[in-house]
Amino acid sequence: MDKIGYCNICGADVNQWGFCGNDIETKFRITGNGKRVGLCPHCQSYDRGRWVYFVLKNFTTLFERGGGVILHFAPERQIEKYLRGIEKCSYYTADIEKGVADYEIDMTKMPFEDDTFDYIIANHVLEHIEDERSAISELKRCVKKSGKIMLSFPVTMDVKTFENPDLKSKEDKIYYYGQEDHVRLYGKDFKERLESYGLKIEVYRPEELLSPKLVEELKLIRNDSVLICSNE
Ligand SMILES: [Zn+2]
Repeated sequence: MDKIGYCNICGADVNQWGFCGNDIETKFRITGNGKRVGLCPHCQSYDRGRWVYFVLKNFTTLFERGGGVILHFAPERQIEKYLRGIEKCSYYTADIEKGVADYEIDMTKMPFEDDTFDYIIANHVLEHIEDERSAISELKRCVKKSGKIMLSFPVTMDVKTFENPDLKSKEDKIYYYGQEDHVRLYGKDFKERLESYGLKIEVYRPEELLSPKLVEELKLIRNDSVLICSNE
C-alpha cells in the first residue's frame, strides 16, 4: 500500500490509519468524539494528540528554548516521551488516579507554591472536573506570570456549554456529554466562559492554520480546538 500520510509525533509514514474512539449516540455533535479513522498504527497516537503535539512544537517555544518547569496532567503517553527528553527542563506528570503519574493530585487543590511552572498541560481534563472555577484558579496560581497553560476538551458548536447536575446515569452522561465520566460538554461559548475566570486565550485549529492537504496527511480533526492560555 502507498503512503497516505505521516505521524508528526513518531515521524513514521502511514499507509493506513487505524480506528479510534467509541461508537456512541450523542445528543449534540461533538468534535473528536465517536468512532473514527485517526489512530497512528506505529505509536498509537490519536488525531487529537497529534494536534496537541503540533501546537506544542510550532506555537510554543517549549522545544526550541527548553521548557523550564512543566506539569503535564493525564499525559498522552506518546507525547510524554518527547517532553521528558527536552534539555534544560524539569518535567512532571500528574493525575488524579493513583500510581500512573509522578504526582497523584486533584487539580482543584494543588500542592505547589505559587508561580511554580512555566507550562501546565491539561488536555481532556477539565470536562471531568465539577469545580471548574477552583481548577482554573489553581492553574492560574501555580503557573508563572510569564507561563502558559495548554487546555483542550471535547466541544460542541451546536449549543452553549451544557451541564446539568441532575444527569446521574451512565447512559445520560454518554448521551448528553459524550462520556460517562464527564460532568459537562463545552459549547460554542467555551472561550468566553474560560476568559471570565481571567485567562487570556489563543485558540488553535487545524482548519485555520494548515492547508487541507496537511490536515489530511496528518489525519487531524479539522476543527479540533487547542487553547494556549496565559494569566491576564
Ligand atoms: Zn505515530
